[in-house]
Amino acid sequence: MKKNDIVTVQVTDISHNGSAISKTEDGFVVFVPGLLIGETAEVKILKVLKNSAYGKTQTLLSASPMRQNESCSIAKQCGGCSFHHTTYENECNIKRQLVKNAFYPLGTKAPEILPVIASEKETAYRNKMLLPVGCDKNGDYIAGFYRARSHSIIPCEACTITYPEFFAITNCILTHLKENNIPPYSEETHSGIVRHIFIRRGEHTGEIMVGLVVNAKKAFQELLQTDSLIQKLLKISSHIVSFAVNINTKKTNVILGEKTVTLYGKKYLTDTMNDIRFGISLPSFYQVNTPQAEKLYQKALELLGEDYETVFDLYCGIGTITLNLSKKAKKVYGIESCSPAVEDAKMNRDLNNIQNVEFICGTAEEEAPRLVAEGIIPDAVVLDPPRSGCDSTLLEMLCNIQPKKIVYISCNPATLARDMKMLTENGYQASAVQPFDLFPRTFHCECVVCLTK
Ligand code: SAH
Repeated sequence: MKKNDIVTVQVTDISHNGSAISKTEDGFVVFVPGLLIGETAEVKILKVLKNSAYGKTQTLLSASPMRQNESCSIAKQCGGCSFHHTTYENECNIKRQLVKNAFYPLGTKAPEILPVIASEKETAYRNKMLLPVGCDKNGDYIAGFYRARSHSIIPCEACTITYPEFFAITNCILTHLKENNIPPYSEETHSGIVRHIFIRRGEHTGEIMVGLVVNAKKAFQELLQTDSLIQKLLKISSHIVSFAVNINTKKTNVILGEKTVTLYGKKYLTDTMNDIRFGISLPSFYQVNTPQAEKLYQKALELLGEDYETVFDLYCGIGTITLNLSKKAKKVYGIESCSPAVEDAKMNRDLNNIQNVEFICGTAEEEAPRLVAEGIIPDAVVLDPPRSGCDSTLLEMLCNIQPKKIVYISCNPATLARDMKMLTENGYQASAVQPFDLFPRTFHCECVVCLTK
């Protein structure tokens, strides 16, 4: 097989990133985005590796009954979504299977995987958008999403999964940049000014925060003509409560820099989750699908039950789970490595008049063992790490002190399976894993599981 060959394939499975796993007649594996199990297609080969190849569909020969017309016009190019071409019900079934596949290495010890709890909203659920800004071939300013596995920008004027008002704001910013000759940042030459547009909206308050990530250390107010931009933005949306500039002058793929300067309104936007008020500043993590995250947190609390005094909420962000836990525990310790998020968490604790919570800035793997060394031993622990999962030294420490319950929330089934293997080999028994769809149309799937001593 070589590049540009046209081969006929049949789809047998879906891979962890939403691509179809298909096979040629002689059994060679070809990964093809946008196909469904059972479908056959003529596929053009794009890249050949030793044991598999990547291809794209030329002609669909037989369509799955689960296929539907794509609801997004740029679904094929944009790297954000994987499942616009199938029914939402089928998408949830696929996600359940993807979680099962992640636990395959655990063999007979794999836990039961429950049906996915679907999102109430399938469209317009994202409360945050971070769009790279660039120039097209004609030199026109564009903002959009990265093409899959690339950093070329697909211009985007609508995104079905994102709150629609965001695009009027984006257009207003792009027009302002053009009119004032403020150049977008170029990754190749590490020159230009505006790198990303950031917009976040509070689901329950409607408040909007707008930000620009810029490659400029000083005088950005003059460079960006921010006073005039803010006036234009306020005419577009009366919900904007905050405008900030985040400074990132590094040659890096990391989107946000360390410093954020608020130029209009509040330092943070406010929202509520499960009737608790939260302030969220620009760099802090906040789940993008608020109603579904509220359900996820309720489930986590339900799994934890009532029977505990001291709880560690590790990877606590702005304290969304920690403050919910405070109602049930005597004392809760939230540990989080992003310092603006910890500042938000402390503010949120005070905003809600909660007394029995302490927030610590640092890594979970360093700060949790330090508390334990001081004699503060949790009887329950909540883990909600990033995609890379938990540090093995943290899990070792938990296996040593054996809290009664560990509730693990995960955005990556592969690292969840890896970490659960260690915990279940060291005295813990797992409940069934409950997948929650927080990210309709994308391949991502959140899970929650309870491990009992
Ligand atoms: N529980 C929160 C945040 C979950 S996202 C919520 O539901 O809103 C994961 C969080 O872990 C992020 O806020 C990230 O900044 C933080 N983080 C990443 N690595 C960490 C580490 N090693 N120790 C502590 N926090 C970490």
